[in-house]
Amino acid sequence: MSTLQSALLAKYGELLAEFEHRVVWVSDVKTNEMLYMNRMAKVLIGIEEDDEYLGKPCYQVLHGNNRPCTFCPNCKNVSDNHYCWTQYNVRAHKWLIIDDHLITVDDHTCRMEITKELLPNEMGQINSENILLQSIQTLTANKDFHSAIDTFLEMVGGFYFADRTYVFELDFENGVTNNIFEWCDIGVEPQIDLLQNVPINEVDEWIASFLQNKEYVIRSLEDDLDHDSDTYKRLAPQQITALLVAPIFIEEKLFGFIGVDNPELQLDNINLLRAATDVIAVEIDKQRMLERLEYLSYTDILTGTYNRNRYIRELHERYHNPPQTLGVIIADINGLKGLNDRYGHKYGDSIIVRTAQILKENTPYPVFRIGGDEFIVPCPEIGKAAFEELVQALRNAFAREPECSVCIGNSWEGNTLDIDKQITRADELLYAEKQSYYHETSRDIKITRHGAIQELLEEIEAQRFCIYFQPKIDLNSKKIVGAEALVRKIDADGKLILPSKFIPFYESQGILMHLDRYVFKSALQAIKTLEKFGLRTRISVNFSRSTLLMPNFVDHILAEFEQFDVERDRVIFEVTETISKIGRETLDDLLRRIRTAGIQLSLDDFGSQYSNLAMITDMGFEEIKLDRSLIHNICENQRTRIVVRTILQMCRELGNISVVAEGIEKAAQADLLGELGCDIGQGYYFHRLVSLDELVALLKSEE
Ligand code: C2E
Ligand code: MG
Ligand code: MG
Repeated sequence: MSTLQSALLAKYGELLAEFEHRVVWVSDVKTNEMLYMNRMAKVLIGIEEDDEYLGKPCYQVLHGNNRPCTFCPNCKNVSDNHYCWTQYNVRAHKWLIIDDHLITVDDHTCRMEITKELLPNEMGQINSENILLQSIQTLTANKDFHSAIDTFLEMVGGFYFADRTYVFELDFENGVTNNIFEWCDIGVEPQIDLLQNVPINEVDEWIASFLQNKEYVIRSLEDDLDHDSDTYKRLAPQQITALLVAPIFIEEKLFGFIGVDNPELQLDNINLLRAATDVIAVEIDKQRMLERLEYLSYTDILTGTYNRNRYIRELHERYHNPPQTLGVIIADINGLKGLNDRYGHKYGDSIIVRTAQILKENTPYPVFRIGGDEFIVPCPEIGKAAFEELVQALRNAFAREPECSVCIGNSWEGNTLDIDKQITRADELLYAEKQSYYHETSRDIKITRHGAIQELLEEIEAQRFCIYFQPKIDLNSKKIVGAEALVRKIDADGKLILPSKFIPFYESQGILMHLDRYVFKSALQAIKTLEKFGLRTRISVNFSRSTLLMPNFVDHILAEFEQFDVERDRVIFEVTETISKIGRETLDDLLRRIRTAGIQLSLDDFGSQYSNLAMITDMGFEEIKLDRSLIHNICENQRTRIVVRTILQMCRELGNISVVAEGIEKAAQADLLGELGCDIGQGYYFHRLVSLDELVALLKSEE
């Protein structure tokens, strides 16, 4: 016990004993130190042992605040020795009326406070200004926004002796209102969970008042409201008999409202609620700014992923609370610096954003951008197999999007966890992948893939590619029934280069889609030209697997049809069997979307590779093109003939699959194929490649 406490008891011990049936405490005015609490005081505040209050500041012990209370008479410079005031005590959850007496102990001025609980009929003594002051103090002294608002609502509820106080936010965009905070008196059923997405029209009348900056009062639910109204049906089951609501404006916009259910005494004293709305508005606004600030300081603005700050915080938390198992994925964009240098930062940014998107779409864990071109995805509590599956899915996703070239490092650990070590391991694996990436790209092609894109785009722009057509011939009537678009490149000397010289390279670089789309657009243009001459011929266009796997491929294509105003059944898409490598489900989905769009599909080069019959039977191709390796010896080789005959028979029996024989060079081949029942032929025997003008002339001459 301090000397001051001993001196207090020596001087005032007898007097204090006389008040043993009242609530009494004593504190030092200057230092705010608590010197004494009697038994009743400890019960009221919820204190068991003396050392819970002795020597501690009164604002902390009595009010749970961490700095002196602004509503304290201390701060009001009370000169009188006696002062009486009211206070809502958040520790006692009660309104108190407090008699202050200033006493002197060893030259210290101390405050002896004799306290009594305020009864309902005494509530009129409290002025709302006082309450508001205390309430604001509660809000600002409380660290945690939510508990501050809860306490604030409790104080307001206490003032009105209400059953519930609450805040609603009005969401005009979605036409609903949501209960965002609530306080309920003891024994009153919380409603907050039930009051989400309430149609806004149920409070239309309230809003009309709010917009005139007026409160809305229901004095008697039974008498004032139409019992068939939605509002009545909403309020009556909540045991509401009366209510008081006031608008909350934030930055002059109606944000929501604060309300009190079943206010008992102060129904006519609306001032408190009115003032409370301003306090709440400031507080919510402040909170939103804080949230925004937190968002900004932990989010990478470019990609919307978490940033390095957040990663460091996360690591810190993980060290203290390590998971049982942890998978780590590190992804690093290849050659970002080169991209920025060559094509500008805008392009570089778009690659960063897309990389982040792919990571976010393909992992259920938070993604962190921890460097300009580096992302990390920690996956806590994941099994080894699941993690490996996740990494594979991610790799597949990146493979489908060749424009985003990244290297991925990953590691997984169970049991004993050394997070640092594990991240280092993932980093090492990433580094190894990087090495092989740069090794390959520099050894094989001397330029990075992004360099190749740029070059290709420039060549397309400079019209270094041109399109020729090879007619498709009806083997019975010998008439042209369509034509295949085939691309050629023109070299610096004006010589034509065959696709076999450049297509495999573009394919390996994952940039063939740019050329394919150019050829496709040229084909649409050709169709328009043919139409001008009154010619309606189908054009076949070759699409590589990587083109078909472009995100939103079908949408892009449909937009192109739209733009050129070409009917979709004018074009046949040729795809080769290698497309089956993308996996059955993805393939089914892709082909279905193309077909649903009304575009016909042709299976090119059938018989050159795996000759998977299921591709014919299950995939719903409208056309099969027999590879020229099957045609060139068909007259001499009986086995080839049997294979071709069987395929033809199968297609006939499946119905509606037309068969095109490629690479017919001799009359005998054409005749034999006709006899076997093949519908269409294509090859040098009929036509070599022709220009668009020549195609027009050929078609016209047939007419
Ligand atoms: P493909 O789609 O099977 O095209 C048929 C190829 O056979 C063409 O070669 C054509 O010139 C050739 N051909 C036609 N008739 C005969 C013949 O009687 N005898 C012989 N020996 N060959 C004949 P090309 O134009 O060199 O194209 C080769 C491949 O390049 C095409 O095979 C196709 O897979 C690909 N290709 C051509 N243009 C494009 C394109 O725009 N995009 C994509 N992704 N691939 C294309
Ligand atoms: Mg083809
Ligand atoms: Mg072919």
